[in-house]
Amino acid sequence: MGLEEIQVPFVTTTLNAVIKWGRKNSLFPMPFGVACCAIEMMSTLASRFDLARFGAEVIRFSPRQADLMIVSGRICIKTMPVLYNIWEQMPEPKWCISMGACASSGGLFDTYTMVQGVDRFIPVDVYIPGCPPRPESLIDAVMKIQELIDKGQSKSKSVRPKIDSKYEYEI
Ligand code: SF4
Repeated sequence: MGLEEIQVPFVTTTLNAVIKWGRKNSLFPMPFGVACCAIEMMSTLASRFDLARFGAEVIRFSPRQADLMIVSGRICIKTMPVLYNIWEQMPEPKWCISMGACASSGGLFDTYTMVQGVDRFIPVDVYIPGCPPRPESLIDAVMKIQELIDKGQSKSKSVRPKIDSKYEYEI
């Protein structure tokens, strides 16, 4: 009997594909919102933009359950160790979005107190430009993270970024 004669429809796949499908559609974000960009992140989660449509609405501030770090807002040098510790507490595999000009490059705050891009300390998978970025930009970034999950890519295991020598301490 050929396969075409079987009346019961069935689907074949691999366990890996099922895991990736589940992972990308049930992201647990860890929001690190410290400034105005965080307001845009909040609206992304609220009813108008509704990030829940992408399966990424479970915000629990619990790094041990989270797999997506969203850094939104400017990060000063005194805050960076807190962000770094939370990132280290998140289990693998994990991903990171740097939301807005300040998180990605220090933005207009080119001062000695401000981290000039969080990727100097933690690996970033997707950057969102803008000041502030629109909620649609965050949704687009989440979709890009989902594509990375589909491809099995994550920068979290990459070599730790070199710390800029202008900072006087190491985390
Ligand atoms: S990028 Fe703009 S909106 Fe975002 S934290 Fe910096 S100043 Fe605020």
